[in-house]
Amino acid sequence: MTFPALFLSHGAPNVILHDSPTRRFLAGLGGQLGTPRAIVVVSAHWEARVPTVNATERPKTVHDFFGFEPQLYEMNYAAPGAPALARELARRLESAGMRAVVDDARGLDHGVWVPLALMYPQADIPVTQVSVQPYESTQHHYLIGQNLRELRADNVLIIGSGNATHNLREMLPEGTEPPPWVTDFAGWLRNAVTAGDTGELLAYRDSAPFASKNHPTEEHFLPLFVALGAGTPGAHGRIIHSGISNGVLAMDAFAFD
Ligand code: ZN
Repeated sequence: MTFPALFLSHGAPNVILHDSPTRRFLAGLGGQLGTPRAIVVVSAHWEARVPTVNATERPKTVHDFFGFEPQLYEMNYAAPGAPALARELARRLESAGMRAVVDDARGLDHGVWVPLALMYPQADIPVTQVSVQPYESTQHHYLIGQNLRELRADNVLIIGSGNATHNLREMLPEGTEPPPWVTDFAGWLRNAVTAGDTGELLAYRDSAPFASKNHPTEEHFLPLFVALGAGTPGAHGRIIHSGISNGVLAMDAFAFD
């Protein structure tokens, strides 16, 4: 079975608790995709200098957020790790000339377990995680994706977990109409993804409207480039979900076949 590579906007951790279009989308997505043999998630919430892969046998659920509902801190996503796959990922990156580090102790942060708990609530599919490198380029993350691409045909689901826009300082009350600096960027992104315009996307910092306003820091956008790189060259991305949370967080999700 060949899975598309996905980019998911994970939103706030309490997306899991309250009904919303994004929650409904994620809760239906696992059933739509089917069951992979393993899942690789590149999460915005693990930053490292060099690509680092999680080879933990039984990764703990990390509650890496503050000020949310108490029941979120009691949730556990007890999926097994995928240490053999993690080591294979590290080898693939090294044979492409990148450095790679294997981490045997890391748990799963909320960029991983929140969407997976909705997609695959049985928590029985092995999961490994790859860090983002916030000081490296879009091209660097695209290269990571290219080196994971073959795994898609081997029953592995590759997910980049971040947010289509992510300026937390500008958050508005839920239900507020999004300002043009958000809708212009989100519209540009949807067009570039569906047009298969890889060059435009990789140059987004210069080519997209209000790029730095929507991503003051890049960690929530970099997982997109891993998913893009894991897609088939020349294939056009598909929009699998769209929405806005808190006026400024575009919740778009994309599939790269
Ligand atoms: Zn996040």
